[in-house]
Amino acid sequence: MLRKKIRASKELNQVMSDYYHELDHASKNENEKVAWCSSVGPAEILRSLSFKVYFPENHSAMLGSSRMATDLIPYANAIGYSPEICSYLTADIGAYLKEVTPLSKVYPDIQSLPKPDVLVYNTNQCREVQDWFAWYANEFKVPLLGISTPRTVGEITDSHITFIAQQMEGLVENLEKVSKTNYDLNKLKEVLSLSRECSDLWKKVLDTAANIPSPLTFFDGTIHMGPAVVLRGTKKANDYYKILLAELNERITNGVAAIEDERYRLYWEGMPIWGRLRHYSELFASLKVCVVASTYCNSWIFSAFDENDPFRSMAKAYLELFIVRSDEYKESYIRKMRDFFKIDGIIFHDAKTCPHNTNSRYGMPQRIESVLGVPNLVINGDLNDTRCLSDEQSQTSIEAFIEQLEES
Ligand code: SF4
Repeated sequence: MLRKKIRASKELNQVMSDYYHELDHASKNENEKVAWCSSVGPAEILRSLSFKVYFPENHSAMLGSSRMATDLIPYANAIGYSPEICSYLTADIGAYLKEVTPLSKVYPDIQSLPKPDVLVYNTNQCREVQDWFAWYANEFKVPLLGISTPRTVGEITDSHITFIAQQMEGLVENLEKVSKTNYDLNKLKEVLSLSRECSDLWKKVLDTAANIPSPLTFFDGTIHMGPAVVLRGTKKANDYYKILLAELNERITNGVAAIEDERYRLYWEGMPIWGRLRHYSELFASLKVCVVASTYCNSWIFSAFDENDPFRSMAKAYLELFIVRSDEYKESYIRKMRDFFKIDGIIFHDAKTCPHNTNSRYGMPQRIESVLGVPNLVINGDLNDTRCLSDEQSQTSIEAFIEQLEES
């Protein structure tokens, strides 16, 4: 049994195709500039300065879902990047060294990645993005700019926001030199307003999963989040989410479930396993279990964006993300998710090469179970390196976990 197909996938494919073709065109046209940006980096500043924005993490997720990643990681290992570190980084650099890209498989007229004119990271998610982008900056001999963000933040204070906002403003002068475009506050406000609308629409899409039965699964979310990641700040992303939201609301009105006869509702904590999305989607569907929500898909909700206070509101939005926060905050966040999405249990994915998006290593599952009374299961795997996971072992654990829910 499969999950119900989303009709809007057709529009999604077109939106993503247009995005990658625009980037390819910009890369070949001297008058257009391409910026590479980390996934929760300052994309709005870049767009306001007329850059076409490319996100290496999205490319690396494509390497994972096309199952190219595992064979490419050793090429990055061979030049000194450990097999223990982020397999987005190692798969992506490996693909570059091997001169392959899944983009050419999906879009045969695109031969290579769009060459960067500048790379911009934000360490809010991890330090790995800085190292990853530094390698490419050296390779392409282009500037590397970045924002350093404190990690494990509890309460967000004015000093935190000032620290980040000043760094964001500090990027502008150097970016103007690369883009040969003057900074325009009104343009930034316009982009930020579109980005905020995208965030609001994406949140509404994800929130439809609070309905019983849910019209949406986490596995759908990992695919349909594409525009929120790579096109936030553009009208195209917003137009797409209006179509998707209408379809999901139609499902709710008609009582249509993503998983027929939904019996249990789970929450996914941690990175997706890109090379096994279909496998796990089918496994849960066969058990009549809907994985309704995840921290991962929620990470592209930036509710603090405010065009009337651009830099401080961007600083706040990019600082208040789950991945940046203390365990105490994360546990209270998961409690809210449990209540809102009416969760029966949690799957923690311990992703071998991403400690930053793995929350099962310091007692959180045990604390959540004893304090919130939510049963959970930790499965070992990885976002991109399929050598780190055992499907048989995970399947046995998941089936036993569902039996445990049946008995409770
Ligand atoms: S958050 Fe994890 S997966 Fe993402 S770039 Fe950082 S180390 Fe890699």
